[in-house]
Amino acid sequence: MEVRPRAFDHELWLFCHRQLLLRRGSLSAYRLQNSYFLTQEQTIRAATECSGIGLHSGAPVSVRILPAPPGTGIVFRRTDLDGFEIEAVSRNVARVSYATSLMKKGVLISTTEHILSAFIGMGVDNAIVELDNLELPILDGSANPFVEMIQKARIRKQRRPRKYLKIRRELEMREGNKFIAVYPADRYSVSYSINFPHPLIGKETFQVELSNGSYLRHIAAARTFGSREDERTMRNMGLIRGASRENCIVLTRDGVENGPLRFPDEFVRHKVLDLVGDLALLGKQILGNVVADRAGHAMHTALVSRILRDKTLWEEVTVSEPAAHRADVSSAHVTAGSSA
Ligand SMILES: [Zn+2]
Repeated sequence: MEVRPRAFDHELWLFCHRQLLLRRGSLSAYRLQNSYFLTQEQTIRAATECSGIGLHSGAPVSVRILPAPPGTGIVFRRTDLDGFEIEAVSRNVARVSYATSLMKKGVLISTTEHILSAFIGMGVDNAIVELDNLELPILDGSANPFVEMIQKARIRKQRRPRKYLKIRRELEMREGNKFIAVYPADRYSVSYSINFPHPLIGKETFQVELSNGSYLRHIAAARTFGSREDERTMRNMGLIRGASRENCIVLTRDGVENGPLRFPDEFVRHKVLDLVGDLALLGKQILGNVVADRAGHAMHTALVSRILRDKTLWEEVTVSEPAAHRADVSSAHVTAGSSA
């Protein structure tokens, strides 16, 4: 009897391989944890901490990230103010100019965008972020140090189904030459353009789909930047008191003071990092295509509040199990869940 081998089914093999790794607990860690399509909420397994100084305040601060139960979301806790808690959601957005700040009952948490960006990039839904001062540490100016903390603490899958905010209708916002919009899509992707009058920058556009590890490879390491020329003005405004060559790219009139750059287009990639962090204030991961041109924290957060205000723009969805595992090898099928 002749046995003919079946054609190799790559998709099926991937699916089985992942199931096996998941069962073993060793998991295709990187790909699954960072795949956009997660069926269940996630937190971290253990507490993890770091310390540094705030970019704008220059104030020393220690941060501890703790696991949190399903449904918690990301909650900041001021340990220097009797553990006062501020949820990382749109309604608590306070000031947005050079950084995004949250405020509740007069208590401030400043420069939240990089750590929130890391949570989105790593697929962490629930965590408590304790800090003992008013501003998150700037560390190296990117999201990398937060990503490394989360990796060290490791991810824990939770029992609650993860809900996504799936965009159903487009929304476009303009302000002078600034633009931001979101369009319906089955995945989360961002396209960002900047036009900065500097010989190293000029017009840069970066487009990325934030799944399958793209965030870690292309976005997380991009650092914030500022120019020597604007330094005095900003310091006079009470800003960038903690800025140094160790925590931001310092632009001179025609170059970079503290090169080399981590990416030739590191500037626009950092804008994507900030946008992802600000959109985390939706409280759920988004399924949609976000397009931004010369936007900033104010427009990012304005988009978030416009989306949340108009419930005809989106629906809450959950992702079915098989689609989640096939997500990076075939187009994912999104099933509608409850609509809030
Ligand atoms: Zn930033």
